[in-house]
Amino acid sequence: MSTLKLGWIGLGNMGNPMVMNLLKAGFEVSVFNRTKDKEAPLLTAGAKAAGNLQNLMKTCDVVLTMLSNDAAVKEVFEGSAGLLSAASAGKTIINMSTVSPETSRYLNTICNQHNVHFIDAPVSGSVKPAQDGTLVILVGASDEDFEATKPIFDVLGKIAIHVGEPGVASSAKLAINYLLGLNLQGLAETVLFAEKNGVSKEDMLNIINQGACGNGITNIKTPLILNDSYPAAFAMKHLVKDLRLAKEAGLGSPLIHPLYDSYAAAEKEGLGDQDVMAIISSLKNK
Ligand code: NAP
Repeated sequence: MSTLKLGWIGLGNMGNPMVMNLLKAGFEVSVFNRTKDKEAPLLTAGAKAAGNLQNLMKTCDVVLTMLSNDAAVKEVFEGSAGLLSAASAGKTIINMSTVSPETSRYLNTICNQHNVHFIDAPVSGSVKPAQDGTLVILVGASDEDFEATKPIFDVLGKIAIHVGEPGVASSAKLAINYLLGLNLQGLAETVLFAEKNGVSKEDMLNIINQGACGNGITNIKTPLILNDSYPAAFAMKHLVKDLRLAKEAGLGSPLIHPLYDSYAAAEKEGLGDQDVMAIISSLKNK
């Protein structure tokens, strides 16, 4: 068992179950969340309350962030009372949020200026894999930093794939989420087309999932479509952010623009805090 003392910032849909797994595996974890009531279940499960970011940085060997977006991550790293204001040489910060490759490279630079190791480690997989410890973790790090922190990734995921230096993992994450967006848009359009022509959604989803076009994500999202209920596992607003970041990172393929426009329209219609599968509700009336 690793004796690394961990600090965790961001106890949203993903952070909460990930910290639970680290606690179950025997890690000592201090937590910080902007909205305090989200800390309560983790404190009950044995986590320590860090109180503030500087205290967390001072008392932990490795600090992990799982936050909404680039702005939130930068604020937590660079704010006047942020992590780097209390950093000392030899510590490690791992960002697991999905941010742009440019932001990851920037965070690596500012961490290195404080002699802090930085790892870019976004994840593929949603709340259920986070609960089960079966995330696919994409790691951008030096070989040494990857080896030193692998015991953490072994608890959180079924595999940690070391794709290169910081920044490269963020590029891989934007690529896989492009495929996710295509999958769910395709699933929604297919079910709606079938329904309009007299095929029930139950039958159409059965056809998809029993055949070669069914996959992990079509199976996971099937109950949401059947119940016409979309509580967020992966919030629509986060996919809109990821597709925007992919465009900004140079993705110019034929489908990225209409795909982005479709999800961005759904967010504007008020579906941003719903699960990404709520794209089907947006498309229903078009
Ligand atoms: P979430 O449920 O919306 O949680 C976001 C977290 O960020 C909350 O703890 C929130 O604090 C915190 N936060 C936001 N702005 C902040 C700020 N300015 N300062 C401090 N804290 C701030 O998001 P999530 O679903 O856990 O996703 C987290 C990240 O993982 C995102 O980058 C997302 O794209 C990525 N991701 C998500 C999934 C998924 O299926 N959900 C899968 C893979 C990757 P409050 O509680 O105070 O709001």
